[in-house]
Amino acid sequence: METKDIMEALGCRRNVLLNPGPATTTDTVKLAQIVPDICPREKEFGQVMKDIQADLVKIVHGDPDVYTAVLFCGSGTINIDACINSLLPEGKTALIVNDGAYSSRAAEICDFYGLPYINLKSPVNALPDLAAVEKVLQENPDIALVHTAHNETGTGLLNPIREIGALAHKYGAIFTVDTTSTYAMRPIDIAADNIDFCMASAQKGLMSMTGLSFVVGRKDIIEASKDYPKRSYYCNLWLQYDYFERTGQMHFTPPVQTIYATKQALKEYWAEGEEAKWARHTAVFEAIHEGIERLGFSLFIPKEIQSGLVVAVLYPDDPNWDFEKVHDYCYERGFTIYPGKVEGKGMFRLCSLGAINEEDVKDFFVVFEEALHEYNITVPVKH
Ligand SMILES: *Cc1c(COP(=O)(O)O)cnc(C)c1O
Repeated sequence: METKDIMEALGCRRNVLLNPGPATTTDTVKLAQIVPDICPREKEFGQVMKDIQADLVKIVHGDPDVYTAVLFCGSGTINIDACINSLLPEGKTALIVNDGAYSSRAAEICDFYGLPYINLKSPVNALPDLAAVEKVLQENPDIALVHTAHNETGTGLLNPIREIGALAHKYGAIFTVDTTSTYAMRPIDIAADNIDFCMASAQKGLMSMTGLSFVVGRKDIIEASKDYPKRSYYCNLWLQYDYFERTGQMHFTPPVQTIYATKQALKEYWAEGEEAKWARHTAVFEAIHEGIERLGFSLFIPKEIQSGLVVAVLYPDDPNWDFEKVHDYCYERGFTIYPGKVEGKGMFRLCSLGAINEEDVKDFFVVFEEALHEYNITVPVKH
């Protein structure tokens, strides 16, 4: 039976997700979850995880002697939690380069664990001031860890991680980067980009299912962290790393079906190729911009500082505008759009993640424009 016939028989319609993850998946990835029941403690399953671990390092061009991948069962936030709570030595301070909701999340994690940190906040609609980052590092020699988000998914702002990483290293700190919404999309070279730890979850760039998250980073630093304060049991990076090294198993029950889906997603990742995949996401991103401009919408941040993966669009100034209604109209027709994430500003997001292409975006804009007409929203929209 052909894959598409199976999906039809299952009544599984293809949805185009323009939200910032989970992303649209291929049918082959969906079906890869259907496997004979297996106990994840079997060697066969351990091998699947080992292969995935190697691939996750390879995606960011990491030297396997230097870098490893640590798998967790959880959503992407578990990685931020694990990195921060595990990698800050006793008596040291973290620096959060904070220009959005996701770096704010790292600051909240510091709050929850009672960790000393400097919250270097800057506007969410502009690039951070590197001189300010350097000044803080200069004045605070106790900073041992610098953290930021690569793509601030709330706005689509792309942070200059290579430059921030260079500063962290210049002042003897490690650099952890939340690459959840760039990994396996925007090409990353972990060493050249001055990253010690990056992270993602399987349902974003890899176009797999939810439930598997992973940190890719330096083995020597994880090993050194063995003697750092243990602040979490479930989310300790060294504990999870060490258990996998010794046993070939995740410490606690892994998300079995998601791991099979991820195995397939990785096969498809290599088949598409880093460059071609990024070119496809870029084409989708450009198609989103084209549609948005044609309808007269304004952007929240300038295109030049966008990650190429998220377009944050301001609500129009129209008494008939109702995001929920427009969302529902599109949703019923197989297209998902997503509300914004910046307080006080009405906006929504259209993202170029997932197994979608320019044609899907063109189809989306037909439906979206229909929705605008349906609810008597003036087109081109007013701002
Ligand atoms: C999606 C995402 C996460 C993870 O969020 P969850 O709700 O835990 O899935 C973390 N950081 C960034 C930048 C993201 O885009």
